[in-house]
Parts: sequence; C-alpha cells; structure tokens
Amino acid sequence: MLRAGVIAVQGDVSEHAAAVERAARLHGEEAEVVEIRQSGLVPDCDVLLLPGGESTTISRLLRSEGIAAEIKAHVAAGKPVLATCAGLIVASTDAKDDRVETLDLVDVTVDRNAFGRQKDSFEAPLDVDGLDEPFPAVFIRAPLIDDAGDVEVLARWDDDPVAVRDGPVVGTSFHPELTDDVRLHRLAFFEGVEGNSKLSAEESPVDAE
Ligand code: GLN
Repeated sequence: MLRAGVIAVQGDVSEHAAAVERAARLHGEEAEVVEIRQSGLVPDCDVLLLPGGESTTISRLLRSEGIAAEIKAHVAAGKPVLATCAGLIVASTDAKDDRVETLDLVDVTVDRNAFGRQKDSFEAPLDVDGLDEPFPAVFIRAPLIDDAGDVEVLARWDDDPVAVRDGPVVGTSFHPELTDDVRLHRLAFFEGVEGNSKLSAEESPVDAE
C-alpha cells in the first residue's frame, strides 16, 4: 500500500488523487490517498503531491498550518514529491514574489504567470526524458522556469525548462493530472525510485485498463 498525501489546502486535489491511484495500480500497488489540510499527516506519507492552484494562497496556508516544515522533512528523508504548476512555484527556491515563501526544494527560479501573459492556457505534446512518446502537457497560467540551478531538466518548451527533477522532487510547469496520462506520476513515484526503464505510452491506463 502506497500512502500518497495530496496537499489539499487549495488547488486541484481530486485530479491528483485519481492520477496517483491509477499510477499505483499500473505498478501492482494500491494507493491510499490522504488529503492534507493540517499538520501531523505528512510524516506517515510515502509520497506527496503538491497541486496547482494559487501559489500565494497555498504558500500562506502551508506555513500557517505547520505543513511546510513537514514537507521539507519528507524531502530531506529522500521521499518523492510531484509538484505541479503552483506546486512547483511553492517548491522552488525563488518565485520573485514576496507573497510566496518558497520551500527551497527545487533549485529553480520561476516567473509566475509568465506563460499566462503570452497565452493563457494551451496544450502541447512534450518530449520528456524517460518517456518514449510525447506527453500531452496542459499549461494553465503556467510558471516559467527562468533560471535552473542544480537540477535535471526533463523537458523543455521553447528552450525553457518545463519539467525538472531535483533529487526526490519532480516539478512541472504544466498539469499532468489534467490528462488521462499518468506517466509523470509514475516517473515521479515509481521509476524515479526504482530505476529508469522508459515508460511507454502504451502502458498508460487508457490502453492498459
Ligand atoms: N499562476 C498560478 C500561481 O501563480 C499557478 C497556476 C496554476 O497552478 N494553474 O499560483
């Protein structure tokens, strides 16, 4: 049983819950999803999901509820996290916005809503390291990673990184939970832990179930 904590103070929680359940099934495991709105739950989780939403709100609530320190301890223990869109902003080292107190888990500087200013929302097929077919990436008012430090860049869009790995944390500018494709959840929680076999699109639940 994989205990998956979805940070649920604000944002798209149910989509991540469904995605991690499907990802776990593809690896022969059941996921128990725990929605996290208060402290005390993170320490029992094997993996964490930091969803998209509004990063200023998420950041404020993580601090006031005492969850921020627990997420940092989870990562310090080497346990996986998938941080998407606003989740990546919160997990970054610098969001260039005083209202976002970053968790300093992913060594990138982000520009909030940079994509949004150009184009509010779009979907694009994206080549991602470790996936042998393009991933249908949904960008919604997405952050731009304008400075990547000591991270592994997994995917780029227009030359800018949009998916990165920093140790046990995978961060994406886009929203993998808003498609039927759970390969990024698998990459973050299973392949990243157990090895590096390429995840084939054919093994996505759309085809496998
Ligand atoms: N632009 C939003 C923010 O700064 C994030 C958007 C999203 O998560 N879809 O929080």
